[in-house]
Amino acid sequence: MNIAVIGSGTMGNGIAHIFAQYGYPVNLIDVNQEALEKGMQTIAKNLDRQVGKGVLTADQKDTILKGITTFTDLKTGVAEADLIVEAATENLELKLHIFRDLNTYAKKEAILASNTSSISITQIAAVTCRGEKVIGMHFMNPVPLMKLVEVIRGYATSDETTKVVMELSRALDKTPVEVNDYPGFVANRILMPMINEAIYTLFEGVAGVQEIDTVMKLGMSHPMGPLQLADFIGLDVCLAILNVLQQGFGQPKYAPCPLLVNMVTAGKKGIKSGEGFYNYANGTKDAPVASKFL
Ligand code: NAD
Repeated sequence: MNIAVIGSGTMGNGIAHIFAQYGYPVNLIDVNQEALEKGMQTIAKNLDRQVGKGVLTADQKDTILKGITTFTDLKTGVAEADLIVEAATENLELKLHIFRDLNTYAKKEAILASNTSSISITQIAAVTCRGEKVIGMHFMNPVPLMKLVEVIRGYATSDETTKVVMELSRALDKTPVEVNDYPGFVANRILMPMINEAIYTLFEGVAGVQEIDTVMKLGMSHPMGPLQLADFIGLDVCLAILNVLQQGFGQPKYAPCPLLVNMVTAGKKGIKSGEGFYNYANGTKDAPVASKFL
């Protein structure tokens, strides 16, 4: 089965990595050549870590890297794909544009999956003529490590498409969970209000960044605090998801905290921009910096 992954950012490179690790030929596509180079460097670095832990051999690492081909042209990149996983920027218009193109350029039997965190699969499917073949395949970050794939059935997604994607997820040694298509699905409908509340807690001066994260880590046994997790996810991605929840449910409880809006406007997107609630400029997680945006 040939795989194409669209978008080489935080998620796209991880998705390409896991498919290639399990022997699937992967075309990795991004409009931005630099993003492709950065994505391939990240994959190589993460493979090195797996070699260091004894999970893979150096030869396997080389084979995996050779199994990934990069493209800036979508039409060429998806031409032979049986499954396309779109992991481009979380923006409705952009995704609709990409799926219109996929409807034109992908093989007619190809499955078109989106890794979107919150955008309606039904709405994405509606711009194609193959709604039964459009599905959500929501991997978690970091993809090579996280076991869950949230499989989202749009209104028109067929049983056959769902079955293929569930089986394929298991073939990657992941655990797929089937859910229906409502704003935020399950994962982000529950996670994002918690992250937003943590940001409000900081914004209202109840406690500092480290204090909030420590309460949630030690008090709730979370592996990392919600503010650090937001930095990992990308603050722009968190904002986009909260906007979808707010529009989708029409309830003020999903309104993004003004501090989150300010930080994204200032270009502070978390790890990927070098700074979010923490500073990552020197490659490590330094003292919190968010207070200067309050
Ligand atoms: P990102 O900003 O790290 O990367 C997005 C990439 O898409 C960029 O490299 C950009 O150049 C590329 N891109 C933009 N337009 C494109 C186009 N027309 N064709 C090809 N590539 C294009 O974003 P991300 O965090 O990897 O998120 C990607 C998707 O995955 C989003 O839908 C997001 O909601 C979802 N997601 C993110 C996370 C997370 O933790 N970050 C987790 C699960 C799902």
